[in-house]
Amino acid sequence: MADELPRPEPKPIDEKLSLELKHLAEDAVLRGRPNGEERCDNCLYYLNPDAKISYCWHPKLRVLVGDQWWCQWWEEIPKD
Ligand code: SF4
Repeated sequence: MADELPRPEPKPIDEKLSLELKHLAEDAVLRGRPNGEERCDNCLYYLNPDAKISYCWHPKLRVLVGDQWWCQWWEEIPKD
């Protein structure tokens, strides 16, 4: 009988990163749902509007976000 593998557990680095990202999300009032018509995939800072998940290049975020998410720094894409 094969030895059972130990159950994976989060490491201290995961707790550290989790806390950092939690603070970042709180500062941005980041939510996993749209705010009316405002959502990441129609925001200026969402790098690839065709993707379900993409990089947000807002200088205070710089993380992966989902297309239906939203934060207080949402900004309309200029028409020109
Ligand atoms: S700035 Fe906010 S709304 Fe815009 S893509 Fe980034 S997380 Fe989404």
